[in-house]
Amino acid sequence: MTQETPRSQTQTLITHARLATLGESPQLFEDGALLIEGETIAAIGTTAELGTRYPAAERWDAHGQLVLPAAICAHTHFYGAFARGMAIPGEPAANFPQILERLWWRLDKALTLEDVKYSALVCLVDAVRHGTTTLIDHHASPNAIEGSLDVIAEAVTQAGLRASLCYEVTDRDGPERARAGIAENVRFARRLLTAPDSAPHLGASFGLHASLTLSDETLADCVAAARELGIGFHVHVAEDVADQDDALQKAGRRVVQRFHEAGILGPNTLAIHCVHVDDDEIARLTETGTWVTHQPRSNMNNGVGVAPVEQMIRAGIRVGLGNDGFSNQMFAEMKAAYLVHKLAQRDPRAMPGDLVIRIAYAHNAQLARIFWPELTIGELSVGAAADLVFLDYHPTTPLTEGNLPWHLLFGVEASAVTATVCAGQVLMRDRKLLTLDEEEITARSRELAAKVWERLE
Ligand SMILES: [Zn+2]
Repeated sequence: MTQETPRSQTQTLITHARLATLGESPQLFEDGALLIEGETIAAIGTTAELGTRYPAAERWDAHGQLVLPAAICAHTHFYGAFARGMAIPGEPAANFPQILERLWWRLDKALTLEDVKYSALVCLVDAVRHGTTTLIDHHASPNAIEGSLDVIAEAVTQAGLRASLCYEVTDRDGPERARAGIAENVRFARRLLTAPDSAPHLGASFGLHASLTLSDETLADCVAAARELGIGFHVHVAEDVADQDDALQKAGRRVVQRFHEAGILGPNTLAIHCVHVDDDEIARLTETGTWVTHQPRSNMNNGVGVAPVEQMIRAGIRVGLGNDGFSNQMFAEMKAAYLVHKLAQRDPRAMPGDLVIRIAYAHNAQLARIFWPELTIGELSVGAAADLVFLDYHPTTPLTEGNLPWHLLFGVEASAVTATVCAGQVLMRDRKLLTLDEEEITARSRELAAKVWERLE
């Protein structure tokens, strides 16, 4: 697609929208309008007001649909897409280490670079369809490490989405692949650091699998490499009690203490899950300003436990919401977060709806600043990135800025998304994808996934 006019000069005025801004002081505009100028939101108001002020702008009539900031996913695995519907041979896994060994570590070993590409594309189609425009990915493909992050980056760029990428370094596949994982993180991060303008919607962190598959030596090598680049880490932390048992046995200390002493924690580091953390570990995460992300659907699926999210937030930890490779329907993840804590604590007051929405939008938007320090997302405000979604949702009860969270949790489904915009670029309109060829991606991924399944011994 060639565009004669530079993007910064194009103006699109969305009209007749029910506009929910979220953000610090959330507002709701009935018959609202929003002006997109280049990549950003240039004005917000009523259709009458902005229609008069911007008569020359191209119009996009929302026909009363609900317009919201696009969703953000703080932790995902694009490489997991080919697991959907896959039969795992043998007895069902009885615990989390068996799930890793029997499913994920067999799947990731079977991936080629083309599989990596299509697995990512499948997830990106899902993200555009369901209005998630910013994704923080954690990648593994032990037999196709070098260049894997470039392949994913290319898919993300083609989709028109925003993503931060990293490779999960681990010792489980031997020292050579551990070194290759380190090299891939370094190579990709350096590529972005040396030419930041070449890929403004990509970010990088230093990926580590988890304490239970990392030796002290490898950890030290990773810390040295990440320090030189000035980037933080993205690592699973105490997802299952097995991670704590391993750390106590191997290092004589708990996971967070081990990572703290190794120099992994800090304000640019994402500690994923933190299901099994004690008071001392919560204090260390707080002191170091380390981010935690919560993935309730994954935790329930793996039967690993319930993360003490509210306790961590009360302690001052910043907690975001990810999907851990589940569908990119973040409304479903929000619902899971809303429900699971009530059940686990047998208290309907646990994890209130406004807190869920704050975690999913405000916290995740702040987390994204690790990778894009100037970026404002997760809210519709003047100067924020034009990342938004249209939802074919017409409330049957009063909708106000105050009760919006409960409409999102009880009424809205991701399937109601009809349009997705990322950084001013329209990626889906009237449910039609504009940047990705869904039919081709679906057909090719089915062929590739079948071959991957065959290769799983
Ligand atoms: Zn994960």
